[in-house]
Amino acid sequence: MCCWWSCNIQAKRLWLNSELAKKPPECLEYILVHEMVHLLERNHNDRFKHPMERFMLNWREPRSLLNSLPLVYEDWSY
Ligand SMILES: [Zn+2]
Repeated sequence: MCCWWSCNIQAKRLWLNSELAKKPPECLEYILVHEMVHLLERNHNDRFKHPMERFMLNWREPRSLLNSLPLVYEDWSY
């Protein structure tokens, strides 16, 4: 599970991590989609990647941008 958002799967609610406020807007969209997909699949596997492609065609660009930023707690290199 990611640390950007605190996810409660059963309540289907997401809480914003305050670190996100410092990130570029295009990254926020990626993180939002990323965490929504985590409601479907907990792990970064093929079942995770397919809905990512559906919801956000260019998700690899903000991911690489996020990976270049400091304070990245999660390994996004799936
Ligand atoms: Zn994740």
